[in-house]
Amino acid sequence: MKKGFTLSRSRSPATFRPVIEALAPLAGDVRVSFEFFPPKNDAAELSLWECVQRLAPVRPAFVSVTYGAGGSTRERTHATVTRIRRETALEPAAHLTCVGAARAEIDAVARRYWNDGIRHIVALRGDPPGASGPGLGVYSPHPGGYAYAADLVAGLKRVADFEISVAAFPETHPEAQSPAADLDNLKRKIDAGANRAITQFFFDPDVYFRFVERARAEGIGVPIVPGILPVTNFARVREFAKACGASLPPWLVDLFEGLDKDADTRKLIAASVVAEQCRLLFAGGVREFHFYTLNRADLVYAICHILGVRPPKAPAQEPAP
Ligand SMILES: Cc1cc2nc3c(=O)[nH]c(=O)nc-3n(C[C@H](O)[C@H](O)[C@H](O)COP(=O)(O)OP(=O)(O)OC[C@H]3O[C@@H](n4cnc5c(N)ncnc54)[C@H](O)[C@@H]3O)c2cc1C
Repeated sequence: MKKGFTLSRSRSPATFRPVIEALAPLAGDVRVSFEFFPPKNDAAELSLWECVQRLAPVRPAFVSVTYGAGGSTRERTHATVTRIRRETALEPAAHLTCVGAARAEIDAVARRYWNDGIRHIVALRGDPPGASGPGLGVYSPHPGGYAYAADLVAGLKRVADFEISVAAFPETHPEAQSPAADLDNLKRKIDAGANRAITQFFFDPDVYFRFVERARAEGIGVPIVPGILPVTNFARVREFAKACGASLPPWLVDLFEGLDKDADTRKLIAASVVAEQCRLLFAGGVREFHFYTLNRADLVYAICHILGVRPPKAPAQEPAP
């Protein structure tokens, strides 16, 4: 690799100007949301709860809880979402997938959420049970189930007037027939009633901006919120990326080279990568960010701080008489 490649990769000084102008403190108009996964045991529950409490003061627009492959976490997702509803002031959203269940079962899950006061669903197709990502294993709809996310969105809207978020793939879903067909699919999800798209993770802001441009040209007008994955375990991100069709730019691979056994340095590098990514997105006009927290708060909290998303200041105390 060329020497200096990592630092010289990004942009000309001219493209950097808006970024420099957007340096901290950033305007206070940024909205963030956080994604958690449901804990598997008591220790994981404790750690998730610490994460929720650490992030709650920045007042996210919503927090979402994933649904395990094949519906494997149905009860744990429900328990986590409803605990957030009961015990915090946060607005919880429940992920729900089409996999492995008939329409009536999914409708019943949705109805239960509605009755528990949950008004926001992240509606997804999901992947085949056992597959750790799209394209791994062959997806076939459950007989009598919702086949694709667009069908699920329409079904949810028949159950109740949920707010609905759906997935979008800036680098195209790996099973899509073509980028155009994938964009048509996103449009179908929005036309069926989805209010927002959240993207799969990506690292190059231009990938996101090009995608948004294409989506707007297709008449997709809803917010397309970038999904941001802070990279702390690069080996794992490599696997995720392979499974979901996200590209790893050579500069990113270079930055993490030789650090497999050096978690402390990886964390510092991760912070600088995600801060730069968010600043470039901000400079390009993005004001909503969705963070894949992986149930870890520190890095996400720091990025929120950089973006100007901070706990409200306590009112000044009257001096004692
Ligand atoms: C923000 C976000 C959150 C996620 N959360 C979860 C989660 O909690 N649990 C989980 O299991 N997975 C989750 N996933 C992963 C997701 O389930 C997978 O990526 C899945 O492979 C695609 O889901 P989708 O909702 O985009 O599917 P869809 O929108 O249904 O699209 C799936 C594929 O089918 C194609 N397609 C759609 N309709 C048709 C049609 N009529 N004919 C032919 N092809 C069609 C699309 O182009 C695409 O290639 C999440 C992904 C994202 C981006």
